[in-house]
Amino acid sequence: MICERCSRDIYKSETCNYCNRKICFDCTKSSKRLSKTTRLVICKDCWSKMPSRKKYKSTTLASTQMKMPEREGFQERRPFERRPFTKRPPMHK
Ligand SMILES: [Zn+2]
Ligand SMILES: [Zn+2]
Repeated sequence: MICERCSRDIYKSETCNYCNRKICFDCTKSSKRLSKTTRLVICKDCWSKMPSRKKYKSTTLASTQMKMPEREGFQERRPFERRPFTKRPPMHK
């Protein structure tokens, strides 16, 4: 198998979720697990493009849960509803 980004011969490849190329480990800029079966992979090229990088960063486990009305997602959200006064505490800066 050949990496479609650096043309190196590779044993195992990842597929970038933004350009859909099969890339090697070195060309993978970042990856994260969204669920048991879903992984999000971004290559170094897409990372350097702001739109895809932003997309990658904003795609979280929480946002995928909201798309599917599963009881798991419902339970996850309950603790938030019980805190009426907390309006987003100041995040780390
Ligand atoms: Zn590569
Ligand atoms: Zn890519």
